[in-house]
Amino acid sequence: MSGVVLRNVSKRFGAVQALDGVSLEVAPGELVALLGPSGCGKTTLLRSVAGLERPEQGQILVGDRDVTLAPTRERPIGMVFQSYALFPNMTVRENIAFPLMVRKRPRAQIERRVAELIELVHLHEQADRYPHQISGGQQQRAALARALAPDPEVLLLDEPLSALDALVRARLRDEIRRIQQAVKTTAIYVTHDQAEAMAIADRVAVMNQGRVEQLAPPIEIYEAPSTRFSAAFVGSRNALELPVQDGQVRLGSAFSVAAPAGSRAVLAFFRPEDVELRLEPGGHPARVEAKTFHGSVTRLHLTTEADGRTARLYTDLPSRQALSLETGSDVWIRVDPATVRVFPLEK
Ligand code: ATP
Repeated sequence: MSGVVLRNVSKRFGAVQALDGVSLEVAPGELVALLGPSGCGKTTLLRSVAGLERPEQGQILVGDRDVTLAPTRERPIGMVFQSYALFPNMTVRENIAFPLMVRKRPRAQIERRVAELIELVHLHEQADRYPHQISGGQQQRAALARALAPDPEVLLLDEPLSALDALVRARLRDEIRRIQQAVKTTAIYVTHDQAEAMAIADRVAVMNQGRVEQLAPPIEIYEAPSTRFSAAFVGSRNALELPVQDGQVRLGSAFSVAAPAGSRAVLAFFRPEDVELRLEPGGHPARVEAKTFHGSVTRLHLTTEADGRTARLYTDLPSRQALSLETGSDVWIRVDPATVRVFPLEK
């Protein structure tokens, strides 16, 4: 097994700095998801590892080998794209065999390997069908099997699920993870979907404007975003603009935390599940503005007055508990200060 190392990689397209000195290490057998908004450089990074873009600066290693200038065909990689990119005139079995035929592997070996892969991606029933005779999810599994056929050291996946509907996406996401762990290949997975990145990756690289803002396991990205961008991009959080008074950031009596040195105002982030809600006085008063049903939980949209301003925040309650809470009800909130992250607000 080989890992992938990027050292200070930069790539520019005219006036656009698509990659701006990216350094990243993917350990052997690890799956790293590149997560970020459109245009942040995820695809350019992946294409640079594939040899489809040539960086102006920096170094890319697969295992011990410097592949920065190596042509794509000499790199030990497999790729899966958003569009399934299967050959339409070949069956699933022939598509999977194709990269092995190109490499002139012995026939018996090809047959054995193809059978193994069909088993791995659960496509026995579809093996002799053509791409137009199978579903999008099945086509993507065939594309994955084809990418894995030559036993690549590194698997590169570029938004492989984005053309699929929500149900198939979730199922195939878990399938890809199972398969990647079964074959123990190192993988880089591009997505702009945070839930997908969190579910599938060992570590997530949050990208912004051609740079990696944070590289950490999903739980850490969620619990302890290290930058304001990371906190804001990885959503499902409350984000409040609050003033600094006497070195403290307060939301009335709901919480009080130390402010970053020298800041006059901050953006405070905290997760909905860290808002402690009471129906009796205790904590800071708030009001239920609206309720939205999300299946097992109901999201309560709250407003609260603090220091002469109105703040809006939300929290999730088990839906059965939320049933008795009417819109307009008075509630009281507290937030554990240890769960609040604050970032200086430049004004
Ligand atoms: P998306 O999620 O929309 O695919 P991304 O994060 O993958 O976005 P990239 O495709 O890597 O982003 O693009 C990074 C920046 O480089 C963008 O501003 C893009 O417009 C620009 N760019 C990418 N490829 C080219 C190209 N061949 N020519 C000119 N500009 C390009």
